[in-house]
Amino acid sequence: MLLPLLVMLSAIPGQAVYLEVPGAPELEAVAIEFKGQKLALASSDDGWFGLIGVDLDVAPGLYPVTVSYNPADDEPYTEVIDMDVMVKEYPTTKLEVAPKYVELSAENQQRAAADRKLINEAYSKTSPEPYWQGVFLIPVNGVTGGRNFGHRRVFNDQPRAPHSGADLTAATGTEIIASNAGKVVLTGDFFFNGLAVFVDHGMGVLTMYLHLSEISVSTGQMLRKGEVIGLAGATGRVTGPHLHWGARVGGARVDPFSLPGIPAEEVLSP
Ligand SMILES: [Zn+2]
Repeated sequence: MLLPLLVMLSAIPGQAVYLEVPGAPELEAVAIEFKGQKLALASSDDGWFGLIGVDLDVAPGLYPVTVSYNPADDEPYTEVIDMDVMVKEYPTTKLEVAPKYVELSAENQQRAAADRKLINEAYSKTSPEPYWQGVFLIPVNGVTGGRNFGHRRVFNDQPRAPHSGADLTAATGTEIIASNAGKVVLTGDFFFNGLAVFVDHGMGVLTMYLHLSEISVSTGQMLRKGEVIGLAGATGRVTGPHLHWGARVGGARVDPFSLPGIPAEEVLSP
């Protein structure tokens, strides 16, 4: 049995990559492995689909993607295709600031570490079933800009972690919506992130909404696509109100604007 299979894939660091394998009635399961991410694809009327994430820090080059097919009445078989990770230079800004803005007290370092632990636990709670469906929505109505994912800042010659989300313009009190259907896996008030909501969309896909002024959902709650989850604000370590919208796919930090269905940048900002 031969199927029309995937050809070579290409992506830039920080990209969510949509995979689709044409349907074949004889297949019972299709699974993907890429850089330690293991994903069972979901079935739809058209075939099998899922997302894999190319982390922001992946070096350019060719990486194997193993596709495993499980036919109902035949031996399982695998196919290896290449993922071509291309070069992407994200902008770097150098800033000189007073040390108090870059140095954390021991107490705040402790708080940030405790936050990090909780957040990493939330990332690991992704459902194997897809909650997400179709296109993802930009979580602030009418806003299309905020494409600063991956930007690097160097404070007083010390490079910081690259920006792992997109900062969307949003005045305090602006309604923030869930980008897709999902389950709230964590809410709280965090040192860097302020009031924040973390949503699992299933199959390794999570989105997060930071610096809110108000949270209107609770952990464990199922969300419809477009449901209001809270209001924009300026909580946490920020200089003004905006929404930091982040996404993880298979644990990789990806640009939320690379999720399926979001128009390309050039379409939005001439
Ligand atoms: Zn941000």
